[in-house]
Amino acid sequence: MPELPEVETVRRHLEAIVGHTIGTAEVLHPRVERRQVDGRLADRLVGRRIAGTDRHGKFLIFDLDDRTVWIVHLGMSGRVHLRDPREPRDRHTVLAVGVGEVEFRFVDPRTFGFSVVVDDRTEVIGHLGPDALDLTLSRFGAALVGRTAPVKALLLDQKVVAGLGNIYADEVLFRAGVRPTRPGGSLTEEEIERVHGAIAPVLAEALAVGGTTLDDLAFLLPDGAAAGDLERLSVYGRTDRPCRRCGRPVQRVVVRGRGTHYCERCQR
Ligand SMILES: [Zn+2]
Repeated sequence: MPELPEVETVRRHLEAIVGHTIGTAEVLHPRVERRQVDGRLADRLVGRRIAGTDRHGKFLIFDLDDRTVWIVHLGMSGRVHLRDPREPRDRHTVLAVGVGEVEFRFVDPRTFGFSVVVDDRTEVIGHLGPDALDLTLSRFGAALVGRTAPVKALLLDQKVVAGLGNIYADEVLFRAGVRPTRPGGSLTEEEIERVHGAIAPVLAEALAVGGTTLDDLAFLLPDGAAAGDLERLSVYGRTDRPCRRCGRPVQRVVVRGRGTHYCERCQR
């Protein structure tokens, strides 16, 4: 699933459509507009100028010129391409939006993603915690107090922190030296600081290479170029391979249904 670095990479690419007006919008799979309760998605897009882009966690946000907000969530394996409108569409294109000279194409084979236009962004993202790049230490610490859930599960909980998924949660905990199965409430103040302090650098490193490409999801940048590969990561996907710090085999356990990777010696 695209996480913060992948979604932010897409957002930066989509800055190219800011200032342009939406001329056409076609919903090609009804599931893409399942969250649209107020009017039809296409009707709410056509004629609007894109005033700016933003992102919160894994949500792409476009401010429109009538103060409404267009939100896109890529789901499990969605991606966005900007294409010449004359080029044939990928068969999994669920939404095609003509903006200026280009066509914004949302391609989503598994249709877990969605797109919606709302009057206020909180209607869609109001339940989320702070974006992972804006999370303060005090807020993070408060979110862990008394929690029996594993710290890995808390990092994945978008109400605690928005933007981390399975890859970067594992990477953050490795960098912090904290075992993913530890109950959130058992972390010392110093450990909380280490976990919090690992979030921004882990995400910044991923962002610097355009995120991570997963074989099974074939996450692609909007221009079709593959992003950074798994070989760059410290523990995620490295089961039984040597820990990059101590050489011991990386362990894999399942935490709340998610494959979780860590080093027994380096993470306590
Ligand atoms: Zn190790």
